[in-house]
Amino acid sequence: MIFVLSSDGQPLDPCHEARARKLLKAGRAAVWRTYPFTIRLKNRTRAESVVHNHWLKLDPGSLITGIAIVQEDTDRVVFAAELTHRGQAIRDALIARRAVRWSRRQRHTRYRSARFLNRRRPRGWLAPSLAHRVLTTETWMRRLRAVCPITAMSMELVRFDTQALQNPEIRGVAYQRGTLYGWEVWNYLLTKWNHRCAYCGATGVRLEQEHLIPRSRGGSDRITNLTVACRPCNERKGNQTAAEFGFPHLMGQAKAPLKDAAAANSVRWALYQRLVATGLPVEVGTGGRTKWNRARLGWDKTHWRDAACVGTSTPDGLRVAVDSVLLIVATGHGTRRMCGTNASGFPIRHRRRQKQWFGFRTGDLVRANIPIGKYAGTHVGRVAVRSRPAFKLNGFDVHPKYLRLIQRADGYAYGYRNGDTAAPTPCFPSTRDRRPGSMLVSD
Ligand SMILES: [Zn+2]
Repeated sequence: MIFVLSSDGQPLDPCHEARARKLLKAGRAAVWRTYPFTIRLKNRTRAESVVHNHWLKLDPGSLITGIAIVQEDTDRVVFAAELTHRGQAIRDALIARRAVRWSRRQRHTRYRSARFLNRRRPRGWLAPSLAHRVLTTETWMRRLRAVCPITAMSMELVRFDTQALQNPEIRGVAYQRGTLYGWEVWNYLLTKWNHRCAYCGATGVRLEQEHLIPRSRGGSDRITNLTVACRPCNERKGNQTAAEFGFPHLMGQAKAPLKDAAAANSVRWALYQRLVATGLPVEVGTGGRTKWNRARLGWDKTHWRDAACVGTSTPDGLRVAVDSVLLIVATGHGTRRMCGTNASGFPIRHRRRQKQWFGFRTGDLVRANIPIGKYAGTHVGRVAVRSRPAFKLNGFDVHPKYLRLIQRADGYAYGYRNGDTAAPTPCFPSTRDRRPGSMLVSD
C-alpha cells in the first residue's frame, strides 16, 4: 500500500500500489516522498474524498520497535514497519567521550575544572540511549500522521508474559542507578511492599527506600535488595542486615515477583505520555494480550505483527494488505567532531565546517548511473561526501555528476523485507532500484 496526500496536502486513505502507478503515469499524482513511499494527488482535495479511520499500533522494543497501521472499517494492515534503534551506539559514543575528557583532566594541558557531584537530573530523566528510543518512535508517529489519516493509537505498555510473571524484576539493567533513577523504582517498591513499612507495617507515614543488606556490607542497589521502611525503623536497623534485624523472611519476599506485574518500563511510560500529548485516543495493551491476539490470528512472531496485535482493538479477521515491511534503521546525523585523531589521540586531520558539497551531504540517499568503467551500472545507497569530488557510495568512489538525489539524509537508513507478509511482491520504488543489499546501507 502507498500513502496518498490530497492536493491540499492532507492525508487520504492509502491506496494499492498498482493504482498509485497508474495515477503517476497519468500525471494525476506526483511522488512526494520515497520512504515511506508517498504520492500527492494533483486534482483532489481532502474534502472531496472519503477517508477512513486508521489505528497506529506500536510495540516498543529495546532494539526494534514494531509499527503497524490498521484500517478500521476494512480490518486490514495497510502499513508495516520495523524501526531499529541505536541505543548501544549512543552509549558507546558517550563512553568514548567520557574517556577522552577524563584523560584530558589527567594530563597537564589546558585547565579543565573538575566536574562531579554538581549535576541534577530532572524528574523522569532517561539515559540518552533510552531517550533516543522515545524520540525516534515519536518522530515516526509524527511522520506517519502526516501521510496517513490516523485517528487513534495503540501501544503495548506493560509486559505481562509468563516470563515476566516468573521474573517481573524488569530484567536487571532497567533499575540500575543511572539508567533509570527516581520515581519508577520508588513506585515499583511502593506497589510491591503495599505502601507500608516492611518492618513495623506502618501506613500513612513517610517511607524511605531501604537496603535489606546495607550498602556498607556489600548490598547492591538491585531492586531485589530494596524495600521501603519508615524513618524510625530505618534508623534502628542501622548497619544490620534484615536477617540480623529480625526479619529474615523479607529477603525471600524481596526476590518474589510482583503479582500483578504493574511495573511498566520507563521508556514505554515516557512514550505513552508523548502519545497522549497528541490528543488522539490512546489504547494500551499488555504483552500477554498481544501474544494472545497473535495466536488467535495464527501469525508468526515478528515485530510488526506484534504491533498489529496490540490491544483489545485488534479485530478477529485482521488481514494483511501489505507486500513488504519497511525497515527503518536509526543511523544518527553523523558526528560533531571537527578534529580526527590517530590511535594515540594526536590530532591528524581537521574537518571543514561546510557540510554540503556539490549539492549533497553525507547520508543522502542517492542513485548513481555510472556509464563506463569498473562500476558501470546503477547503484543506490547512502553517500558519504568529500570536499574533492570523490564521494563514497557502497564502498567505491563516485563522482557527484553521476548522482541523483532520492531522499535527503534524515537520520535513518531504509530497506524493505519481503516474504513475511501476505504476497511477496515488492512495493515502490520498482524492483530495478532494489538490488539485493544495496538499499539498506548503514554506516
Ligand atoms: Zn517502620
